[in-house]
Amino acid sequence: MDYEVGKVLIDDETISTKVGELASEIANCYSGKEFVAVGILKGAIFFLADLVRSLPQDCRVKIDFMAVSSYGASTKSSGIVKIVKDLDTDIKGRDVLLVEDILDTGLTLSYLQELLRGRAPRSLRTCVLLDKPDRRRVDVNVDFKGFSIPDEFVVGYGLDYSGYWRNLPSIHVAKALEGSANKTQPKE
Ligand code: 5GP
Repeated sequence: MDYEVGKVLIDDETISTKVGELASEIANCYSGKEFVAVGILKGAIFFLADLVRSLPQDCRVKIDFMAVSSYGASTKSSGIVKIVKDLDTDIKGRDVLLVEDILDTGLTLSYLQELLRGRAPRSLRTCVLLDKPDRRRVDVNVDFKGFSIPDEFVVGYGLDYSGYWRNLPSIHVAKALEGSANKTQPKE
């Protein structure tokens, strides 16, 4: 492996406080209205789980998941993603909250927003835990945002490197190992 887990960027307590704040904003926004929270697998799994459990008891929320993967190198420029697992829910006429781990170039989220808008939900909002504004290539409208972070590759709290380190409770910077040939960010 070319990377190791580096310093903590956002610790678990800070994440938990932020998730609580986001849940309050979301509960206020959907007050009295049922909505479907759609988590993007696998990165958003812990974020979605913590977020919906922080909502007040009278909040009417259902959850569903989508899994996406890149079509390969060309995807990075086109933003076309392959739907590996689609929603079980028909979102037509429903209020939908898209929940994603991290907004980087914006290509994935802008593609997903367009795809879901095409299914005629009553409303579509987006919540991201992390935002790397310096890497943005397309504008993406985000309604609820956790943290803006610098242009570093991060792992933990659902975010992986090669499938590992999703289980870390805090968010860490992934550090290139000394002597490793690969000094670029893992997903470049
Ligand atoms: P975007 O399409 O916005 O460039 O990329 C979004 C996806 O890239 C995220 O859902 C995530 O899978 C991956 N990604 C972007 N930045 C990071 C990062 O710093 N760490 C990890 N683990 N994944 C990232």
